[in-house]
Amino acid sequence: MRTDLFIGNAWAPAASGRRFDVINPATEEVLASVAEGDATVIDRAVDAARACFESAEWRGLSARKRGALLFKAADLLAARLPEMAELETRQNGKPLFESKIDVSSTVETLRYYAGWCDKFGGETVPVDGNFLTYIRHEPIGVVGAIVPWNFPLNIAGWKFAPALAAGCTVVLKPASETPLTALLMGDIFAEAGLPAGAFNVVSGHGSTAGSALVRHPGVDKISFTGSTAVGQRIMRDAADTVKRLTLELGGKSPNIIFDDADLAAAVRGAQNGIFYGKGEVCAAGSRLLVHRKVKDQVVEQLAERTKTLLPGDPFDKKTRLGAIVSRQQQESVLQYIATGNAEGASLVAGGKAATVNGKGYFVEATVFDGVKPEMTIAREEIFGPVLAVLGFDDEEEAVALANQSMYGLAAGVWSRDIGRAHRVAHAIRAGTVWVNTYNMYDPAAPFGGFKASGFGRDLGRAALEGYTETKSVWIAL
Ligand code: NAD
Repeated sequence: MRTDLFIGNAWAPAASGRRFDVINPATEEVLASVAEGDATVIDRAVDAARACFESAEWRGLSARKRGALLFKAADLLAARLPEMAELETRQNGKPLFESKIDVSSTVETLRYYAGWCDKFGGETVPVDGNFLTYIRHEPIGVVGAIVPWNFPLNIAGWKFAPALAAGCTVVLKPASETPLTALLMGDIFAEAGLPAGAFNVVSGHGSTAGSALVRHPGVDKISFTGSTAVGQRIMRDAADTVKRLTLELGGKSPNIIFDDADLAAAVRGAQNGIFYGKGEVCAAGSRLLVHRKVKDQVVEQLAERTKTLLPGDPFDKKTRLGAIVSRQQQESVLQYIATGNAEGASLVAGGKAATVNGKGYFVEATVFDGVKPEMTIAREEIFGPVLAVLGFDDEEEAVALANQSMYGLAAGVWSRDIGRAHRVAHAIRAGTVWVNTYNMYDPAAPFGGFKASGFGRDLGRAALEGYTETKSVWIAL
């Protein structure tokens, strides 16, 4: 494990000497004591990133060589997959098979953007008059990446891979609950041969290290994934220095089952849509909208399946429901369950806290039927294994219910009618719509939100463009 700060390809504790504990949420044991970055540390990290950004070593590197460094980092990460996955599970509580998927996805993301490096060109534009006018995409500069605890390495990779590929340098601030895999990336990038300062990691708290990064005049862009409330705060704090922003925020995604769907597949999709990642997934299908003709059947099957989805040791191969990331998050999820009961929704599965071997912050897989759109559990992001089921009578009502949310991150549509599937996919105001599937991601497919789920995109060519400034150059001929 690495538990110090990674700045300029070197490891050092914070000058303040302060550290904080990282807890394994499945066992309640202290995993590590990690250096606590603050504004002074952020200054050092931004200086290192700025110096590297201006250096011939980084600016002068050809795009192809930059790509080669990222391919090397991907290979090194792939070679350390078991170790990384184990660490991710220990700090986050998710089942080991999920952590393995997270790490291999990060390898894929690195390879995808490594491949872009020498293929991402500008263009010439057909202006009026006797000019050659062309567009250059230039790296934005120093990028502050601030990420949450649910996919600690994977989401960090959604930021650092395109940022580095575009020629930016990065200061990464992982969530204080889960800094360990991000820190290990320091070793990997240094071994891959990235020059000092290209990639830096400052562990610490949001209100200190995170806020200092957002306010720092030496940072050109903040790429943030986290809650909408913190995203709003970041937007305000970034205004003074006119920073570029990508904000990937919360969600309350509708997963819609029509009466013409393959119901067995739809029920599996509903279950996977909410319980994968313990429901601590921004795109979780946390509102299940079901046609009234098939609702009882769907709820019955879902309740049956959910009762067999028991919280378990994240290292047990059979476990499909791990520990909630922290005691605080567990309490918040249980509070939402209490509110669901109090507001009159009917609990059909789960609903309680659990332990495994007498320890850990687990919550049972929980399903509420009879949920009304105005209830708290239909409106607010719970970020835990809690599903709210609502009924509808026709397509128009389904779309209206789906869009009745401040969020617009993702949605699912289950139907055998191809025309309906496209119509509904187009009508839903969300950045991703999955038809007859759920929770699919690929480095090539842009991901991000409409409405209060944020703006800007991770992944795909769109993310790469988000780490560049566009420059028009006019040559009089
Ligand atoms: P959070 O907003 O509490 O924290 C996210 C990060 O921001 C952490 O690193 C935190 O330390 C930092 N932070 C907190 N206050 C800050 C401040 N004032 N200035 C700068 N940084 C600050 O979110 P979380 O609880 O870690 O994660 C859960 C949230 O993330 C959920 O709302 C979820 O929907 C969202 N999320 C969104 C996506 C997406 O792609 N849209 C993906 C995953 C998670």
